[in-house]
Amino acid sequence: MLDVRDLDLFYGDAQALDGVSLQVAEGEVVAIIGANGAGKTSLIRAIAGMKKPARGTITFDGHDITGRVSSIICDLGVAQVAEGRQIFPSMSVAENLEMGAVLPRARTKRKETLERCYEMFPKLKVRSDQAAGTLSGGEQQMLAIGRCLMGQPRLMMFDEPSLGLAPAVVGEMFKIIKELHAQGMTVILVEQNVSASLKLADRGYVLENGRVVLSGTGAGLLNDDGVRQAYLGL
Ligand code: ATP
Repeated sequence: MLDVRDLDLFYGDAQALDGVSLQVAEGEVVAIIGANGAGKTSLIRAIAGMKKPARGTITFDGHDITGRVSSIICDLGVAQVAEGRQIFPSMSVAENLEMGAVLPRARTKRKETLERCYEMFPKLKVRSDQAAGTLSGGEQQMLAIGRCLMGQPRLMMFDEPSLGLAPAVVGEMFKIIKELHAQGMTVILVEQNVSASLKLADRGYVLENGRVVLSGTGAGLLNDDGVRQAYLGL
């Protein structure tokens, strides 16, 4: 479904990605792990069309999306899940969700998708008329996921979804990603909680200094001595 080849990306003279290649098949959950500054966010931004790579190609469903504008990439079904903080605080929960379905493809199915969102996040239904800014941090993160789902994505990219959330909410977050996986959603997951993310992932890639240094199944990476030492503190 997604094929990234030989990607180089720079901020000025500083190289953030150096020949990165990775593939994601439909229905897979793929984890990207790496230390701070390894290039994980840059990779997601390049796929989402928010930062142009200097070299390499990104193909989604046979479409070359390299360097295309983010609205076109989004229209094809590639979505970056916003951080919980990026919701519209003074708008209601329901209005925030509806904002996710502005593209024509999503608008026609708005009612069904809204019901699906409320099934997945019953708390959002209870609070549908409440201003989004009054939700807890965890609920705001759920709202951000719900809003993303309203756009009918085919590939969802999560960048540190558990950042700043209470431990109980982090568990809920992983449960939701698991549920999305079970429903056939394709997911790229960048998560500081390496152990939980590799347990959930079908496959993973390890980034170091902008390069892919290792890849394998989630279980394989969890058992890899280098990964255990560098990222799991074992
Ligand atoms: P983190 O976990 O800390 O978010 P990351 O793996 O997501 O790290 P990136 O944010 O992609 O890493 O950063 C990769 C490199 O690019 C780093 O050296 C970083 O300092 C640099 N970088 C990222 N964003 C910018 C920017 N807007 N301007 C200049 N340099 C940047």
